[in-house]
Amino acid sequence: MKIICIGRNYIDHAKELNNPIPKEPVFFLKPDTALLQNRVPFIYPGFTKDLHHEVEIVVKINKIGKHIEERFAHKYYNEISVGVDFTARDVQQLCKEKGLPWEKAKAFDGSAPTGKFIPISEFQDINKLEFSIQINGETRQKGNTQDMIFNINQIIAYVSQFVTLKIGDYIFTGTPAGVSSVKIDDKIDCFIEDKKLLSFNVK
Ligand code: MG
Repeated sequence: MKIICIGRNYIDHAKELNNPIPKEPVFFLKPDTALLQNRVPFIYPGFTKDLHHEVEIVVKINKIGKHIEERFAHKYYNEISVGVDFTARDVQQLCKEKGLPWEKAKAFDGSAPTGKFIPISEFQDINKLEFSIQINGETRQKGNTQDMIFNINQIIAYVSQFVTLKIGDYIFTGTPAGVSSVKIDDKIDCFIEDKKLLSFNVK
């Protein structure tokens, strides 16, 4: 499986990192080794001094597809969760300055902890969903999918023009404003509405 991540999908987050508001979705990939499954806790990587959390809604693809039209995109998923797109912000900044790819900063082992998936039928409207991250019990970042620049169906339509989506692929749909540093011994909990779907420690 692969993990597709959307960047700069919330205006407030693009602004906080001094990035332009995109006219089309920005995406990048993480390998399956970025999953945290069976490898909890998350180990703070030695190559960064500024590891940021980015809490994001994650969509799981359940059907193979290429060139998916937006109006049919809803047929390609029926479960969502919440995840953390861990980012070595200092490393990413150096990559950006040199015009280099971001993978060192984004795609490292364990960089995509993802929670339990929930059928979308359990939510009233996935385009109006609150999600959040707590660090040591304190809410650090909170967003609502209604503030996405590109919604889930638009993302699927766009990405599938370039990359075939396969069963079991994840799409991280972008982070709202409020990214900040995590530290060793932090306890991280992520929620959709009031459902806690992901919980782990940083070691
Ligand atoms: Mg992100």
